[in-house]
Amino acid sequence: MGRNYRIGVIKGDGIGSEIVDEAIKVLDALSANMGFNLEYCEMLLGGSAIDETGVPLPEETINGVKRCDAVLFGAIGGPKWDNLERHLRPESGLLGLRKEMGTFANLRPAIVYDELVNASTLKPSVIKGVDIMVVRELTGGIYFGEPRELLKDRAYNTMVYSKSEVERIARVAFDIAMKRTKRVCSVDKANVLEVSQFWRDTVIEVSKDYPEVELTHMYVDNASMQLIREPKQFDVILTGNIFGDILSDAASMLSGSIGLLPSASIGEGVGLYEPIHGSAPDIAGQGIANPLATISSASMMLKYALGEDEASKKIDNAIKKSLAMGYRTADLSAYDAKEICSSSEIGDIIANFVSK
Ligand code: NAD
Repeated sequence: MGRNYRIGVIKGDGIGSEIVDEAIKVLDALSANMGFNLEYCEMLLGGSAIDETGVPLPEETINGVKRCDAVLFGAIGGPKWDNLERHLRPESGLLGLRKEMGTFANLRPAIVYDELVNASTLKPSVIKGVDIMVVRELTGGIYFGEPRELLKDRAYNTMVYSKSEVERIARVAFDIAMKRTKRVCSVDKANVLEVSQFWRDTVIEVSKDYPEVELTHMYVDNASMQLIREPKQFDVILTGNIFGDILSDAASMLSGSIGLLPSASIGEGVGLYEPIHGSAPDIAGQGIANPLATISSASMMLKYALGEDEASKKIDNAIKKSLAMGYRTADLSAYDAKEICSSSEIGDIIANFVSK
């Protein structure tokens, strides 16, 4: 009897079901020969949840995710629900779910595939070989700090970090670095902000538990410049909420296509694994969405939630192989494509590679 995992599946709206179905196809092809079993538990979120239950985050979903080992998620939202009140919109459902799940760490890899070096706006020599993991603190800092107020003649927000908040996100970054090339660059603004000095001091303290990991520090203004100038210098970037928000978006553009990049939001409990893009209503229902970001999110799930590192590597290698062989969805058709494929065809190709 193999290892059994219960996977929450939230397809969501727009292209959500098209891309999640392909990720499941790949997971099923893998699990068959890797000695583990996956049991799927489908749940509603966002617009489809509104249509069916009247709310974007049904109670069954809140309770359901807590009974899973990990959750694979597509995307939510679309014009159909854009005119609802803010708290009833699909996006509120996703924010609420992340809060319920206590996912304080957002992991955003920025990988440049050799076969797609021409898809970036930067020179191939600058981006070839880029493989960065941005570890962003997700539930603290200035987005959540109190007091906050919008007045007539002034407004303010407060950037607060407690020791435990910095310690736990730093540990996530160091643990990940141990599985990579053992380098962490902590990004802050310690030359100006007390909260950043505190962040830096705390990260240095945590680093003592990871003597094998090389820790460096960089001010956020310099980091944003270095990401564009020489991105290959980075392995793991550890940073707070607002700096991470900005840096992870900048880093994601190194790769050139939004349809390629996965993410994970993890915490003390169950983690959420999802592509960085949205529900792409403009192409929904056409079967042309790029499923690679979601398939890659499934790979992150195997690695970070289930500890199935070998299976995760198989997916990553299969993605590289499919790109090397010139298989492309329409969004990447301009970049050395040998064959333009549907979402489902890409799923078949990756599933075929991982099953060998
Ligand atoms: P989007 O990411 O959905 O789409 C932006 C552009 O990228 C579109 O042209 C789309 O066709 C393309 N695109 C996105 N994913 C693709 C894929 N896998 N393959 C090929 N092309 C792809 O962003 P948007 O248009 O600003 O938002 C659409 C909806 O998605 C909105 O309702 C928004 O609120 C929601 N959204 C949801 C999430 C989420 O669920 N995590 C994130 C961002 C936006």
